[in-house]
Amino acid sequence: MKNTDHDVVVVGAGPAGCTAARYAAKNGASVLMIEDHASIGSPVGCTGLLSTRAMSECELRPSDDFVLNKVRGAFVHSMNGTCLPIDGKRTKAYVVSRKIFDRTLASMAVESEVELRLNSRAVNLKRNNGIQKLQVMEKGRLHEIEAKVVIGADGVRSNIARMAGLGQVKKILPGIQIEAPYRSLDMDFVEIFVGSQAPGLFGWTVPVDERISRIGLAVDHGNDDNASVFLERMLRNNAHISSRYGGGQLDLAVGGIPLGPLERTSAAGTLIVGDAAGQVKPTSGGGIYTGAACARIAGEVAARAALENDTSAQRLSEYDRRWRAKIGRELAIGMNIHNFIRSIGDTEMDQLIASMNKPSILDTITRYGDMDHPSIVIRKLLSPSNSRHLIGIFRAFAKAVI
Ligand SMILES: Cc1cc2nc3c(=O)[nH]c(=O)nc-3n(C[C@H](O)[C@H](O)[C@H](O)COP(=O)(O)OP(=O)(O)OC[C@H]3O[C@@H](n4cnc5c(N)ncnc54)[C@H](O)[C@@H]3O)c2cc1C
Repeated sequence: MKNTDHDVVVVGAGPAGCTAARYAAKNGASVLMIEDHASIGSPVGCTGLLSTRAMSECELRPSDDFVLNKVRGAFVHSMNGTCLPIDGKRTKAYVVSRKIFDRTLASMAVESEVELRLNSRAVNLKRNNGIQKLQVMEKGRLHEIEAKVVIGADGVRSNIARMAGLGQVKKILPGIQIEAPYRSLDMDFVEIFVGSQAPGLFGWTVPVDERISRIGLAVDHGNDDNASVFLERMLRNNAHISSRYGGGQLDLAVGGIPLGPLERTSAAGTLIVGDAAGQVKPTSGGGIYTGAACARIAGEVAARAALENDTSAQRLSEYDRRWRAKIGRELAIGMNIHNFIRSIGDTEMDQLIASMNKPSILDTITRYGDMDHPSIVIRKLLSPSNSRHLIGIFRAFAKAVI
């Protein structure tokens, strides 16, 4: 294979791109990471709620530099006002500044000798004689970069995936969030609002501090994807929220949440990772843990293949196999849970929440609840002592998917 400018070029410096780039460099490759924007971590389209596992998957300590709050549980509110208190008893997740978090990951990549170029947008990708040729618009100038492997970490509407013939994620849920004055019920708990106020996924409040929360929702509502209408309605009509919301907004974030991974995430000379590959938990829309877990594999496989001078589709399919072995089943179960929740009405959801509001069930959730692996707690809920409390349709569904 002819020499190229870089062994690996990573497109997109979000959490998945930074992690993939760092892992490729750690495995001996020369790595360039390009980012469209002039600034890392901005604009923010995220709540910044990271499980403790997500933090360790990114190989980060929860530093005061970017951790704004710690949470240990959730209050789940159904439409009829029932509140299910889920107390994890210890820190389960961190509320972070995504801007500083992303910048920390980018610094770690640079410290691992990744070259980072801002204001650089990949506009075209071709493969010629086994070499990847990436056209890049850098500070208004078009030029070509050659690489052995290109990693597309370019987010939910990935052009790299499309240009490599891997298609694009089919389903994208609209999400919207404001940061605003909000009198939090308890700083240690997030709030989740299920049912038709946020059809298909849920609404949330995530405390940043005692006075400020991130309030948002994502919806899966057929063609009516106007999430901002649902958010306005939730702020106005949800009695619990409206009594605590102080009005106005300090920040606004909008973005798409990809549901369901691409059928293939590797092709000759190309790997796709993170939101670009649809590696997102369908139960919550969270993509940082899953993206980082897959990015580590992508970086390692890309580097090894480049250094072996074998970047064929078959060589790079190792990435596909390994990430699916790690999180593929959990994503598939998550998609079944998402489809089930989407299929039930408010009455059934109210009944489901009420049926879970029993000490033995809450205890099981406390002991086995896992933001990243919901299948674990569902399996535990199916034990004879617990499952008799659960409403029939949920029991039947859970038995079918686990
Ligand atoms: C409202 C909302 C709330 C969310 N809350 C959470 C949460 O609390 N916890 C959680 O885990 N997840 C959350 N997510 C999901 C999370 O934000 C994503 O899963 C995560 O950012 C994906 O990381 P990534 O690196 O794959 O992509 P991104 O973070 O989207 O990064 C992609 C990068 O690629 C760059 N790029 C794109 N095209 C090009 C190009 N052609 N050339 C160069 N650069 C390019 C972009 O500028 C961007 O910097 C939320 C999403 C939304 C919409």
